[in-house]
Amino acid sequence: MSAAPAMPTALRRTLRWAAAALPFASVVAAVGFLASGLFPTVLEPFWVAPATLLLVLAGVAAGAGRRTPRRRDKERGLADDLALGAPLVAASVLVATLVGEGLFPLVYLVMAGLVGFLRFGAASLLVLLAVGLDALRMSRSGAPRTAEVAAHAVFLLLFAATYRLVLNARLALARRAEIDAVRNRLREVEEDARTFRLVDSGSTERAGGAAAQEKWLLASVQQVEGAVGAVLDVAELAIKSHTCAAFLLDADDRMLRLHDCRSVSEDVQRARVPAGEGILGGVVRRGVAVRMVSEGGVRGVGWYQRHVRVKAVCAVPLQEQSGQLRGVLLADRLEAEAFTDGDEQLLATLAREVLRALEVERVLGEVRRGRDEKARFFSAIEELNRAVDPGAVFAAVVENARALAALDFVAVTLVQEEDGARVHRVAKVAGSPTARALEGRSFPDNNGLVANVVRYGAPLPGRALPNMEQKVVFDDATEVRGLGALRILPLVAADRILGTLVAGTKARGALGEDVLRMLEVLAIQAAQAVLRAQLFEQTERLATTDGLTALANRRTFQSRAAQALAQARRYGRACAVLITDIDHFKAVNDTYGHPAGDVVLRGVAQMLREQARDTDVVARYGGEEFAVVMPETDLRGALVIAERLREAVAARSFQTELGPVRVTLSVGLAASPEDGTEMDALVQLADACLYRAKREGRNRVVTSEALRPARLQAS
Ligand code: GH3
Ligand code: MG
Ligand code: MG
Repeated sequence: MSAAPAMPTALRRTLRWAAAALPFASVVAAVGFLASGLFPTVLEPFWVAPATLLLVLAGVAAGAGRRTPRRRDKERGLADDLALGAPLVAASVLVATLVGEGLFPLVYLVMAGLVGFLRFGAASLLVLLAVGLDALRMSRSGAPRTAEVAAHAVFLLLFAATYRLVLNARLALARRAEIDAVRNRLREVEEDARTFRLVDSGSTERAGGAAAQEKWLLASVQQVEGAVGAVLDVAELAIKSHTCAAFLLDADDRMLRLHDCRSVSEDVQRARVPAGEGILGGVVRRGVAVRMVSEGGVRGVGWYQRHVRVKAVCAVPLQEQSGQLRGVLLADRLEAEAFTDGDEQLLATLAREVLRALEVERVLGEVRRGRDEKARFFSAIEELNRAVDPGAVFAAVVENARALAALDFVAVTLVQEEDGARVHRVAKVAGSPTARALEGRSFPDNNGLVANVVRYGAPLPGRALPNMEQKVVFDDATEVRGLGALRILPLVAADRILGTLVAGTKARGALGEDVLRMLEVLAIQAAQAVLRAQLFEQTERLATTDGLTALANRRTFQSRAAQALAQARRYGRACAVLITDIDHFKAVNDTYGHPAGDVVLRGVAQMLREQARDTDVVARYGGEEFAVVMPETDLRGALVIAERLREAVAARSFQTELGPVRVTLSVGLAASPEDGTEMDALVQLADACLYRAKREGRNRVVTSEALRPARLQAS
C-alpha cells in the first residue's frame, strides 16, 4: 500500500466499492456452485470448487475488514453484520460439501457464533441462508430427499433458537448479579461516608432525625463520588492510562479502599489493599508521588486481583494541606511508556480536586449538622411549651434532653413541702429499664446530690466525678449505676425551686460545653413548663372538686354520673344512685360551731371515700348532702353498702376542738334499670327515698322499693 498516496481517486473508489461488494458476490458464487447440483448435465471443471472456496474466504476477509477498530466508533448496521455472516455461513457449508459430511458441525459452530454475537434480525436471516445453502448442498449428492432436507432445516432452526434462548437466560442471570452488586454498593455508601470522615465514626447512633441525616449523608456521598468520578474520567482521557484509580484510606488508616476506577480492560481491581503494601504503601508512608517504568514489569503492583504486567506507574498522594493523608490517586500503563512530568502534575492537580470535594462535603456536613441540631432544639422547646398536663411536660423534658444531648440518663425530680418537711419525687426518667424503675420514687430531704441542688439552687458540675459509683444521686436506697459524667440543674421558675433536671452519660467527662449550655436553656424552659403545668393542674382541680372535702363537686358529679349511667345502659348493667344527708346538722353547727361542723363534713366525706370503689363517683352534692353513683351495683348490693356506711358513721365520733361529735345519716337509694335509665329520674327518686327516711325518723336507709306501692298508686 506504499503507492496509496499516488493512487488515483477513481481507482480508489472502485477498489472500495469492490471490497464492499465482495462478501455478497462471494455468497452468490457459492450459491451458484452449490446449485449446480440441480443441473447434473452441466460439466464442472476441477478448479471451480477451490476457486469458489477461495472467493468466499476472500468475502469473509472483506466482511471482517468492515469491523476494524478504526471503524469501532461507527454504529454497525445490518449490512455490516450480513457482510461478515453470509460469507462465513457460505464458507462453512462449502467446506462441509468439499471435505465431506464429517465437517458439517462446522456449520453449527459458525451459527452459534453468529447467533451469539449478532443482532436478532441479522442472525435470523443468516440462519435462513444456512438452511437454504444446506438444502442446495444435499441436492449435489443425488436427488435431494425432501424428508432429509426438512429434517436438516428443522435441526438448524431448533439449534439456533435454543442457543439464543440459553444465551439470553445466562445474560439475565448476569444482569441480576449486577443488580445485586449495585445494592451492595449502596450498603457500602454508609461506610464510605466514614472513610470521607463526613461523620465521625460512631456518631451515627445519635438519636433524632435519623432518616433525614441518612438522606443528606447519601447526597453528600453521591456528590463526592461524582467529583471523584469526573476526576478519573479526565485523568484517563488526558494521560492515556490503562487503569486510573482512587484509593482512600479507611477510617482507621489501616486499609486503602478502592473508591473508583477507570480501566481500558476488565482487569479486576482489588477492593481493599493494606495501607503499608507495595507501591501504594510507599506513597502512603512517604506522602510523596511515585513514578516508575520497567520493561520487565513494575514490582509492587497490589491493585489487581490477578497478575497483570504493569510496565509504568504514576501515583500521587491525596494529602490535605494540614498534612493529613487521605489516600492515593494512581495511573498505570501496560506499555513501557513512562509517565511524564506533565502527567504527574496533572494527577497532582486532580488529587487536589478530589481533596477539595472531600473538604467541601465535610464542611457542608458540619453546617448541616449544626443546622439540624438547632432545628431539633427549637422544636424541643416548642414541644415543651405546647405540653399542658404535667405528664406530657415531664415526658417532653426527659425525652428531648436525652435526644438533644445524647444522654444515657435523664430524670426530672420535683420537690414538695409536706408538713413542713421537704420531700423529693422522681417524676420521670428516660434511660435504661432499670433506671426507669426509679420513676415515682419519693425520698425525704437528705445529703444526696439532688437534695443539695435544691437546697442551694445551684447546678452540680458536669465533670466526671471521682468515685461516681459511690455518689448518692437521689437517696441511699436508689443506686444510679454506670454513669461516667453527671449534671444536675435546678428547675427554677418564679423564684421558686420546683425540682431538678438530672442528666448523665456513660462516657467519662463527656458533657461538653455545648451540651451544658443546651441543658441550661432546656432547664429554664422545663421549669417554666413544669410551673405552668402545676398551675394548670391546680386550676383544674379547683374547678372540678369541692374545696372543703376534696370530693367531686356537683357539676363534676353530674357529668361523670351521666357517663357512668350511659355505660351501664350500653352494656345492660345495673347502676345504683345513693343520696345521703346528715341528720340534724344545723344542731351540730349551732352547738359546736361552724368549724366543728366542717370537721364532721370532712370526716363523713373521708368515710364515703373509703366505702366507695375506684369506679364509684362520690360527690358533695350540697351543704351536708352527698351523692354516690355505683356502677355494676343493683339495689340490693347498694343497700348493703349504704347500711355499712350508715352504721360506720353512727359508730364514729368526730374529734373537734370542742370535743367529740356524733352524727347519723339518712340515705335514699334508687337503681337502674328498674327505676329508670335517666340520671335526673334516678336522683329524684333517691331524693324522695331520703325524704322518706327523714320522715320515718332518720338514721336509716330507704330504697326505691319502699316507694313502689306509692308510685303505683300515683300512676
Ligand atoms: P335534717 O336532719 O332535716 O337534715 O336537719 P338539718 O339540720 O341537717 O337540716 P338542714 O338541711 O336544713 O341544715 C343544713 C345545715 O347544714 C345548714 C347549714 O348551716 C349547714 N351547712 C351547709 N354547708 C355547710 C358547711 O360547709 N359547713 C358547715 N359547718 N355547715 C354547713
Ligand atoms: Mg341535714
Ligand atoms: Mg340538708
